[in-house]
Amino acid sequence: MHDVLIIGAGLAGSILAYQLRLADQKVLLISDPSIPSASRIAAGLINPISGQRLVLQENIETLLTSAQSFYRDIEKQFSFNILHQKQMLRVLRSDKEKEHWEKRKKDPDYQTYMDDCVHHDETAACANASAFLQHQTGYLDTNLLLNTLHAEFLNQGILYETSLDYDDLTIKPDGVLWQAHHEQTDQSKKASHQTIQAKTIVFCEGWRGQDNPWFDWLPFQPVKGEILTLSSNSDLPQYIINRGKWLLPFNADTFKLGATYDWSNLNETPTEDAKQELLHAMSQILTHHEPVKVIKHVAGVRPGTKDKHPFLGLHPECPQLGIFNGFGSKGSLLIPWYAEQFVAHLIKKSPLPKQADIKRLHREAHG
Ligand SMILES: Cc1cc2nc3c(=O)[nH]c(=O)nc-3n(C[C@H](O)[C@H](O)[C@H](O)COP(=O)(O)OP(=O)(O)OC[C@H]3O[C@@H](n4cnc5c(N)ncnc54)[C@H](O)[C@@H]3O)c2cc1C
Repeated sequence: MHDVLIIGAGLAGSILAYQLRLADQKVLLISDPSIPSASRIAAGLINPISGQRLVLQENIETLLTSAQSFYRDIEKQFSFNILHQKQMLRVLRSDKEKEHWEKRKKDPDYQTYMDDCVHHDETAACANASAFLQHQTGYLDTNLLLNTLHAEFLNQGILYETSLDYDDLTIKPDGVLWQAHHEQTDQSKKASHQTIQAKTIVFCEGWRGQDNPWFDWLPFQPVKGEILTLSSNSDLPQYIINRGKWLLPFNADTFKLGATYDWSNLNETPTEDAKQELLHAMSQILTHHEPVKVIKHVAGVRPGTKDKHPFLGLHPECPQLGIFNGFGSKGSLLIPWYAEQFVAHLIKKSPLPKQADIKRLHREAHG
């Protein structure tokens, strides 16, 4: 009998599985690599101040401390570097944004995270613009993290790379049964048909969670996004530059450029329109730049929610079923701390953070 069966091994499912294992829980993770994962294409940016109104993320100190400590522990365990600290140059595009900046810089809560920009002449477009510098920013190498955790989970036999069909689940009063049709990953590629039992199943399916029959009352608001990877012969800026769209230099001659927002066309297909939108944005950031070459173009769907808070909790009527989802465009920053809270909830019945507890929405949906 497993303690927890997790569906979906993006950042949410993988980090939750890792933390549950640290708490001595018996975990099995099911994920289908042929179903696209937002975590695989995300830039992994960590940015405490976001949006045109320059709003500081609620609970930022706690979230950052937890994320940094979690990723640093993983770095130590596997001897690599996944969390890259990099300052962000924020270019102000309008008088309204400048007003917000003037207001924010007087606010003591913002002091740790922003500064006047002293020198930014390396980015031609920014040289004549108003800009400020952001601290505690950087990015997570999501692919290196996931490749490493998945290799470890496969090695331990706790990751099945297969698709979950809801019809293969039976909900029992004391848990769930999953009729597994799983192909072994050993050389024989034998199909195995087994019944897996677990006390709790937790769905971490990303934006596809909106079709989950047990949680279809949750107000998801998924958003498609596209990112380009470009190579360049010119010197790249040392900062991340954010002018609505962002530019992330990640080695000497390559950078990422993102991201678009599309609430209507929910799929993982890159489009010419988004590519042109991004290249236009780049021309406003790097005005005197040599031509660049697009070397990669990807699209994914963020698991956004209507009230901008994640979805955590056990089903109010079937507590054998849980959800850990809805991390929108901030998975790298949010998931480690929320995973800690969810683990404590599963094991010790500790209360969940109110803003993320799905109870807030069940009452609304069911009166
Ligand atoms: C363009 C773009 C840019 C982004 N940039 C950033 C950024 O800079 N910083 C940041 O923090 N976040 C960013 N994000 C958001 C980030 O990707 C998400 O917050 C985070 O990755 C969500 O992780 P997840 O595990 O919930 O979802 P996903 O990564 O989508 O994982 C869901 C998993 O469930 C699996 N799955 C689904 N259904 C089934 C099934 N039936 N059977 C088996 N497996 C199943 C899928 O294969 C997948 O592995 C960006 C997203 C996009 C699209």
